[in-house]
Amino acid sequence: MLLEIDRINTFYGKIQALKSISLHVDPGEIVALVGANGAGKTTLLNTISGLLRARSGRILFDGQDITRRRAAQIVRAGVIHVPERRQVFGTLTVYDNLLLGAYQRYRRDGRKAVLRDMDHVFELFPRLKERRKQLAGTLSGGEQQMLAIGRGLMARPKLLLLDEPSLGLAPLIVKHLFELIASLRNEGQTVLLVEQNARAALKLADRAYVLETGRIVLEGDARELLEDPRVQAAYLGGHALAA
Ligand code: ATP
Repeated sequence: MLLEIDRINTFYGKIQALKSISLHVDPGEIVALVGANGAGKTTLLNTISGLLRARSGRILFDGQDITRRRAAQIVRAGVIHVPERRQVFGTLTVYDNLLLGAYQRYRRDGRKAVLRDMDHVFELFPRLKERRKQLAGTLSGGEQQMLAIGRGLMARPKLLLLDEPSLGLAPLIVKHLFELIASLRNEGQTVLLVEQNARAALKLADRAYVLETGRIVLEGDARELLEDPRVQAAYLGGHALAA
């Protein structure tokens, strides 16, 4: 197991946002985390990446206990978080945004290795290559999302956390984006993907967890969940599970 989460509880003051969450991600898997608005998906990613702290429970990553580590240490361990709403540096060029993604490893790996990885990101996202001298703030939403993912890849993550990559993007762009995420799997990249777009996420992922008001209510093979009447009713055009 690359990531193993054991019964974590996370609070905002007195409000408990995560209730005894356990899950795991194996190397090379794409695991989706689906659920409605406010279910706790972002809270879970933030707890893994150290932006929030679990009050109890344990998070193991690559054999190390990262539950109480600081965010920067968790990045160094190989967990890279691509946050919701992309958050690229708008006043920097595409090139500089990508370079910043490699900030942690630049000194260790050297310029050559980093530029080689940038070439690889440009192969995955040819649009970014065309626009490498452009300011990131002038890119379209879809291009900014690709840049955010590309910047994440520049860190050579062992685990990539993607928060709502499809948010605010047109359907055609979303389709393209999901094809790109699928191509990451072919390269052996491990991904934990948070999505409200349950259909697209379940089609793409190997396994999935369904989160509802801070708890995991269903888990299993992504294709099977896609066929599950409870999931279909709640997330693929019906009513909430609890209703
Ligand atoms: P979304 O897709 O809308 O981001 P989500 O599944 O990621 O939804 P979270 O953002 O993790 O859900 O929120 C989980 C719960 O925690 C919600 O009830 C939310 O209102 C609450 N919450 C989130 N952030 C805070 C905060 N900073 N302070 C207090 N409560 C919060």
